[in-house]
Amino acid sequence: MTSAGGKTYIVEHLDEELGPWSELEYLAIAVESHDAGAKFFLSSLPPSFKVPEALNAVPSFTPETRSVEEIYASDKSRVCLLDPAAAKDLSPEDGDSFDVFLFGGILGDDPPRDRTSELRKKGFEGRRLGPKQMTTDTAVRVTRMVVEDKTRLLDVPYLDYPELRFNEHESTEMPFRYVAGTDGKPIMPKGMVELIGKDGDKTLDDMF
Ligand code: SAM
Repeated sequence: MTSAGGKTYIVEHLDEELGPWSELEYLAIAVESHDAGAKFFLSSLPPSFKVPEALNAVPSFTPETRSVEEIYASDKSRVCLLDPAAAKDLSPEDGDSFDVFLFGGILGDDPPRDRTSELRKKGFEGRRLGPKQMTTDTAVRVTRMVVEDKTRLLDVPYLDYPELRFNEHESTEMPFRYVAGTDGKPIMPKGMVELIGKDGDKTLDDMF
């Protein structure tokens, strides 16, 4: 079944906890999905999981203790897994074949550990967003640009491995691909640059 209307984006939460980094990413996905008329589900949440207030306040956001397999048990063919190891890249036409897009709720790691394989095993059809690792919110943003705005993957304005400069002496190179905003800077969740800057004495590895 496909629907012409708004899409559903599901992030299957695969980490034990919700760190501040994931919280900002999930909030960015929720707000942007809402603005685009789409739904956002955070699935596989442990029953004890405390959903942050700001996230709960976004009307089109749904926290789910069920896994994506349970939610879509009867209609797996609607669901496309965004998978860095998929054989085929996502195309605008995939917006006609799928109405649910599934992502791994995993913080990026360098080098990537392929934890998306936990979702691949469940047998969803996979699509790649090009060869470079994106943060989860970037992956959702790019998917939306491709399947809803019909922008080809190759035409998305990317920024690879941008350097964030905090002051004259401190800067960090982010080991991910981002979308460039109209100001030429990488689009990142609200508060993320400050969070990274605040943890300036930690390495990015400590934060992931
Ligand atoms: N290091 C990772 C792993 O262990 O698989 C990648 C995690 S990435 C930060 C989080 C999610 O974003 C992935 O599970 C996937 O759904 C999506 N994603 C990121 N980059 C992607 C790409 N190039 N192609 C397809 N999906 C991607």
